[in-house]
Amino acid sequence: MNTSSPIRVRFAPSPTGYLHIGGARTALYNYLFAKINGGSMVLRIEDTDRKRYVEDSEKQLIKDLKWLGISWDEGPDVGGKYSPYTQSERTKLHRNYAEKLVSIDKAYYCFCDKERLQSIRSKHKGYDGHCRDIDTNKALERVISGEEHTIRFRSPKQGTTTVDDLIRKNITVKNKQMEDFVLFKADGFPVYHLAAMVDDHLMGITHVIRGEEWLSSIAKHALIIRAFGWSEPIWCHLSVLTQPDGKGKMSKRDAKTKEPGNKHSIFINDLNNKGYHPEAITNWMALMGWSLDDKQEDFKLVDLEKVFNLDRINPSPAAVNFSKLDYFQGKHVRQMSNSEVASSVQPFLMKAGIVPDQEMLLSLVPLIKNRIVTFEDSVEWLSFFFTKEIQISPSEFINKKTTKEETLVILQKVQLTLEQLPTFDHEGIESELRLLAEKMNLKLGQLLNPVRLATSGQKVSPPLFETLEILGENLVHSRIEKAIKLLENI
Ligand code: GLU
Repeated sequence: MNTSSPIRVRFAPSPTGYLHIGGARTALYNYLFAKINGGSMVLRIEDTDRKRYVEDSEKQLIKDLKWLGISWDEGPDVGGKYSPYTQSERTKLHRNYAEKLVSIDKAYYCFCDKERLQSIRSKHKGYDGHCRDIDTNKALERVISGEEHTIRFRSPKQGTTTVDDLIRKNITVKNKQMEDFVLFKADGFPVYHLAAMVDDHLMGITHVIRGEEWLSSIAKHALIIRAFGWSEPIWCHLSVLTQPDGKGKMSKRDAKTKEPGNKHSIFINDLNNKGYHPEAITNWMALMGWSLDDKQEDFKLVDLEKVFNLDRINPSPAAVNFSKLDYFQGKHVRQMSNSEVASSVQPFLMKAGIVPDQEMLLSLVPLIKNRIVTFEDSVEWLSFFFTKEIQISPSEFINKKTTKEETLVILQKVQLTLEQLPTFDHEGIESELRLLAEKMNLKLGQLLNPVRLATSGQKVSPPLFETLEILGENLVHSRIEKAIKLLENI
C-alpha cells in the first residue's frame, strides 16, 4: 500500500438484518480512525446476496448509525466520487473484473449444476475442480450460447499464502486447503469476496478494519487482490464479541431482548427504543477491544475522535457486558442538564399515554436523575404524578410490622399533620413528619411507607417529601383519604 495516500476506510454492511453492536463497533472504529487521521469514511452497502436481503434494513441501518453520531463522507445517501455505493448497482463492473481474471487464467467458467455440486459435497471438502481444465475457448462458446455458469477462482494448489494483519501479524494458510471458490454466481451477482475486493480497490480503501469473522476469508481476499496485481490494504481484524460470561460467541439470534422488561439487546434500534443515550453506547462499544490506557474509561464521541488509534486494539475476545452499558448510561444522564433529561424522557411518557405538564416534568427531573438507567425507566418513576387515579390493593398496606389498625392511625395522623402545614413544601413536610414519627414512637420508614403507597401506589418512589410537594396538597389529601376508606372497608 502506498502509505502517502490519504487514509480511506469503509464500513461495508450487508443489509441482512438490523445493526447490532458487532457491526456498530466496526463502524465506530472506522469512523474514529478516519477522523483522527483526517481521512475519509465510505459507507458501502454489500447487498449482492439476494437470498439474505432484508427489505428495510438499509434504511434502518443508516438511521441507527446517524443516531449513534457516526457519519461518513461518501455513501449511497450522500453520493461521492466513487458512486454508486450500493453493490447491486455495480454488478456489471464486478462481472468485467471476474472476466478479466478468466482472461489471465486466474479464474474459469464452471458449468456444474446444483445436483452435481450436491453429490460431490459428501466426497470432497469443497469443489472438485471438475471444470478447471475445460479449454477456455470452448468454455467461452458455452457461455455465449447461454449455458448457465459461474466463475470460479483458480486457487493455487501448492505452497502457502501469508497475509499480514496489523494486530495479529502474519497469518498463513495452506493453499491446498483452499477450494476453487465462486467469484460470480449464476444469478448474475458477484460473491461478496470478489465484489468487496474490487470495490475496495476502486474506492481507494487503504485500511480494512472489520470483524474477526472475516479473518478466515483473508487468504481468499489476498489471492484475489494479488491475482489482479493490486496492492493490498492494511488489514485490521477486530476481536470477537462474546456473551457477558465470556463463554459463547455473541450471536444475533440469542441476544435479542427475550423477556419483556429486559432492556438489554445487542440491536442498536432496540437500545434506542429502550431509552439509552447514544453517547453511552459509543462509550461502551469503544472499549470493547480497545483502550487508551488502563485508566480512562469515560469518553464522549468527540474525545474518542481525538485519541483513538489502532495500536491499542486488543485481539482477545471482548465480553459484551450490559452492566457496563448501564454504568455509562447513568454517567451520561447525570451529565445532562435537567431540561435535556426532560426532553429525552418526554417521548417515553407520551408512549405510555402520559402527556406531562412541562413545568412539572422539569421539577421532577432532579428527583429521578440519579435513579433512572434508561429514559424509559422514568415512566415507572413518574407515571403516578400524571395519572388521576392510582390503583392500590388494600393488602399491600398490611405487613409483618404494621397491622391494619396501626396503618389507619398513621394515615389519619399524617393527614391531620399535613392539613395543618402553613405552606405545603418539602422542608415543612419533612420536619413535621419526622416529629410525628418521634411522637408516635415509630421509625421514620414505618411512618412513611404507607404514605408512599397511598400517594404513589408504589413501594418505591422518588424521595417522598419532594414527591408530596410536587403532587400538591389536594392530590395528596385525596389519595390519603382514599387509602383510609379502602382500609376501613376491609
Ligand atoms: N459485507 C460484509 C459484512 O456484512 C463486510 C465484510 C468486510 O468488511 O469486508 O460484514
